[in-house]
Amino acid sequence: MFDNLSDKLDKALHVLKGHGQITEVNVAETLKEVRRALVDADVNFKTAKNFTNEVKEKALGQNVLTALKPGELMVKLVKDELTELMGGDAEGINLSGNPSVILMSGLQGSGKTTFSGKLANYLKTKKTKNPLLVACDVYRPAAIDQLHVVGDQIGVEVFSDREEKNPVAISQKAIAYAKENGHNVVIIDTAGRLAVDEAMMNEISDIHKAIEPQETLFVVDSMTGQDAVNTAKAFNDTLNFDGVILTKLDGDTRGGAAISIKSVVNKPIKFIGTGEKMEAIDVFYPSRMADRILG
Ligand code: GDP
Repeated sequence: MFDNLSDKLDKALHVLKGHGQITEVNVAETLKEVRRALVDADVNFKTAKNFTNEVKEKALGQNVLTALKPGELMVKLVKDELTELMGGDAEGINLSGNPSVILMSGLQGSGKTTFSGKLANYLKTKKTKNPLLVACDVYRPAAIDQLHVVGDQIGVEVFSDREEKNPVAISQKAIAYAKENGHNVVIIDTAGRLAVDEAMMNEISDIHKAIEPQETLFVVDSMTGQDAVNTAKAFNDTLNFDGVILTKLDGDTRGGAAISIKSVVNKPIKFIGTGEKMEAIDVFYPSRMADRILG
């Protein structure tokens, strides 16, 4: 689905790439195709229209028709605009609390547990923080085990309570534990389900209200196509989250999901996951993603 976006952009820009000279008609047609590709990838119509208007204005301002390599200049203008659309500068994580509480949300299989570990490892090594990981999935004992394995791997303590069946209570106990034991960051890994449902949304919403996290992150598998956008919207409607984590970018996808999600929820993409290992985490850079999407 999203690779369609890359393909369509490729196709639209290809016409210009080879040309030594282009006409106003070439430019207009190309931009129409670009706009259509964006709309097809769920970028809303107004955003897509603004996008192509901006590119057109800049193209005329820079005399694209008489430029030495007009095709290349157009590609650059589209790339710059894509970069802007995906959020300009990378934004960090709010670590102002004591402890700073980070709530992870997302569907089962999106990469929440893996990313919780990666983030703990990142904060520990890069920001010299002392994180605590919290297992809040009360339905799947295997999920608790998985977080313990991750914690052992990176040398980060994991808080779990297999007797307690209320995730709000677990989160609260974990925060109290963190305060007593000098953990200045608490990362709460919550239960996801295979699809968005009311029970899951109520549960995460209850946790969110009770603990008032400094940072609520939504984790999404970049390979899941159209569903990624719908899921992002559903979680954002419930949680008004602070940022998006795009996982599995080491796969085949070129990452068009970044544009659609950003356009639909208007929240920054903060980090990306690029593999199963704990080190496979990167800050999100819009310009790198634009390069990747354009191929
Ligand atoms: P959760 O159910 O949301 O907690 O998802 P998990 O963290 O258990 O991840 C689901 C699967 O995706 C696991 O097999 C992970 O190893 C894998 N995974 C998570 N993040 C990435 C990533 O960035 N790249 C790849 N290739 N696999 C990932």
